[in-house]
Amino acid sequence: MKAPLTRFYCMSKECGFEETTHKLKEGIPCPKCKGPVLSQRVEKGEINNERTNSHNS
Ligand SMILES: [Zn+2]
Repeated sequence: MKAPLTRFYCMSKECGFEETTHKLKEGIPCPKCKGPVLSQRVEKGEINNERTNSHNS
């Protein structure tokens, strides 16, 4: 069974790091700025939508 597709993105907007992968990278720091990285499950069919939802709080 494949790992779920997950999007990882840096909390720093100036950094802008973002990666969508099937690999599990929970808990790793941003490879660019070493800052905290957020993860978001990508549902099937959602991969072409770039941040259309507003889960930011
Ligand atoms: Zn970063």
